[in-house]
Amino acid sequence: MSKEIIDEALAIAGDIENQLKFYVDIGLEDIGGSAFDTGLTSDSAAPLSSEAGHFGAVRDPRLSQHETNLREAELATSGPLEQKDLFGESTMVPSSRPSRASSNLSVIESRDASLQAIREDIGDCHRCKLHEHRKTIVFGEGDPKARLVFVGEGPGADEDASGRPFVGRAGQLLDKIIVAIGLKREEVYIANIVKCRPPGNRTPEPDEVETCEPFLLRQLAFIRPDVIVALGSPAFQCLLRTREPITRARGEWREWNGIKVMPTFHPAFLLRSPDKKREVWEDMKKVRDYLNTKAS
Ligand code: URA
Repeated sequence: MSKEIIDEALAIAGDIENQLKFYVDIGLEDIGGSAFDTGLTSDSAAPLSSEAGHFGAVRDPRLSQHETNLREAELATSGPLEQKDLFGESTMVPSSRPSRASSNLSVIESRDASLQAIREDIGDCHRCKLHEHRKTIVFGEGDPKARLVFVGEGPGADEDASGRPFVGRAGQLLDKIIVAIGLKREEVYIANIVKCRPPGNRTPEPDEVETCEPFLLRQLAFIRPDVIVALGSPAFQCLLRTREPITRARGEWREWNGIKVMPTFHPAFLLRSPDKKREVWEDMKKVRDYLNTKAS
C-alpha cells in the first residue's frame, strides 16, 4: 500500500474521530443516520419552535453614511488579513497559512487599539433603559483578528456578573461547539447584539437593539472575519434586517457586508431542545469546511 493511501486513510480516520468527539462533547447520543455525512446541506425539516421569534421591523440599510465612512476607514487601515491555523492538527488539514508569529505587530496593535476605541465610545453607557438593571457592560471578547465571530442575543446573569459573553450554561455549550470544529475559544470572537443584560433575560426590544447595534457593527467591521455565526433569531434578524424565522434560515449561507453569515440555533435553545444539536452540527460543519477551504 502506498504512503499516499495510508496518509489519506489516517486523515479520514482523524476526521471521523473528531466528529465522534463532537457528538460526545455536545451530548448527542444517537449518532445513527447522518452522523458521518460530510455533505454540506441538511435536508431535515426545521419545525417551528420558540426560536422563531420576531424581532423588530425590516428597516433601511443599517449603516449611516457616518458609519459607512468609519467602516471603510477601518477596513482601509486594518492591513492584510492574516490567516491562521484553524483546524491544525486536530483535523489533520494541511495548512499553507502564515503563522500568527509572522504577523506585523503594528497591525495587531492598531487593530486592538481600535476595538478599544469602540469600547471607550460606549463608556458608562446610559443610552437605553437596559443600563438601569445591568451590573456590567459585556463588550465582547476574543481574537481581534478572528476569522470566526459568534453573535448572540444579550448577556444573561452570569455574563452580567462577570462582564464576559457566553460564560453560563449556554456559553459552556458554545465552547464545546467551538472545540468541535477544531478551534479554541480564544481564537474566535464572541459578542452580542446588546451589551447589557435585558431584565429576566427577555429578548432585547427594538429600541434597545437600535441603540446598541452600531457598536456591534463597528466591532464586526473592524474584525472583518471570514464568517459570522448568528446565534438565534434576534442575532440573525438584527444582522440581516429580516423577520425571517431562524427555523427557516438556519443552515443557509447569508451575507452581511460581504462577510458570510451562518444562522443557527442559539445554544440556550439547544439546552432546552437537545434534539436540535444535530442541525447545529450540520451548520457548523459548513462553517468549518468554508474556513478550511478558504484557508488552503
Ligand atoms: N446568551 C447570549 O445570547 N449571550 C450571552 O452572552 C450569554 C447568553
